[in-house]
Amino acid sequence: EAAVNRIAAGEVVERPASAVKELLENALDAGARRIEVAVAHGGKSLIRVTDDGHGIRAGDLPLALARHATSKIDGSDLLNIASFGFRGEALPSLGAVGRLTITSRAPGEAAARIAVSGGRMGPVTPAALTRGTVVELHDLFFATPARLKFLRSDRAEGQAIADVIRRLAMAEPFVAFTLRDVSDGGEGRVIFRADAETGDLFDAMRGRLARVLGADFAENALRIDARREGVSLLGYAALPTYSRGAAVAQYLFVNGRPVRDKLLIGALRAAYADFLSRDRHPAAALFVECDPTFVDVNVHPAKAEVRFREPGLVRGLIVSALRHALAEAGH
Ligand code: ADP
Ligand code: MG
Repeated sequence: EAAVNRIAAGEVVERPASAVKELLENALDAGARRIEVAVAHGGKSLIRVTDDGHGIRAGDLPLALARHATSKIDGSDLLNIASFGFRGEALPSLGAVGRLTITSRAPGEAAARIAVSGGRMGPVTPAALTRGTVVELHDLFFATPARLKFLRSDRAEGQAIADVIRRLAMAEPFVAFTLRDVSDGGEGRVIFRADAETGDLFDAMRGRLARVLGADFAENALRIDARREGVSLLGYAALPTYSRGAAVAQYLFVNGRPVRDKLLIGALRAAYADFLSRDRHPAAALFVECDPTFVDVNVHPAKAEVRFREPGLVRGLIVSALRHALAEAGH
């Protein structure tokens, strides 16, 4: 069982940033309004995610670590994924390749803790915590040295973690996020911080955009609010002058999930084709919302690619909405 977990873990956890992504998604699934992430040495020696969500009951802690025991949907429903997590694999995988400790407190219950290391689960013990969940992952990949060897520098892995957090923070403007580097001990150094935004969705998105991409960008961004046959496109797109030399400032989401989808990136590029040279990339934060049956997000475990039932419709919506906004702004 431990060996099976280690093999399967490679699918879910490629690097520290993928562990952070899974832990943040769990915190969001638990209804967290404030999420704090602390990492040391690019997440290789420590990843700690603290949330104020609904917690896990002491009796359920061993279940949370059992493969497939907790999948949030059943197999017949793979196209209707409402919550982020659906495979019941993240925690067992992390417990197989690192030293994982979960401390949690559900409302009306005492706090409890469980540890699992290299796939070996310890007992549930009493703990002190006022609310929510703290997941600590020490020594990621200590149990799989081959994978450890393929990790990049602390700096590069740390940047990948910050990128994951910025993307999820963009998607969840009403949730507060903090990322600290605690490599040198103590309180650590704040790498990213975004307080919970207020107001309506567009206010909140613009506020969060300012945090993630800068106030100047946010103030000058074009508001996008379009729909076509049940698919809607919301968010902000930058004036061509805010383009970048790389596609780093493209934040794309499908039903709240960060994606790096070729179709969406291509549509964004096509919309700006008349205004940007080929080596410039438009900046944007765009949210595609549609019926879950219209999109398959289950193409790859990392879920960065999606498959739309009508790709032409989605592409057309993006290109026309952005061209319209650019024309209104005098382009
Ligand atoms: P999945 O998210 O696919 O269900 P995971 O392995 O990521 O599987 O998590 C297992 C289970 O542990 C979740 O279904 C949830 O019940 C519980 N869980 C994990 N993290 C948290 C958290 N931060 N707060 C509350 N419950 C959590
Ligand atoms: Mg999960």
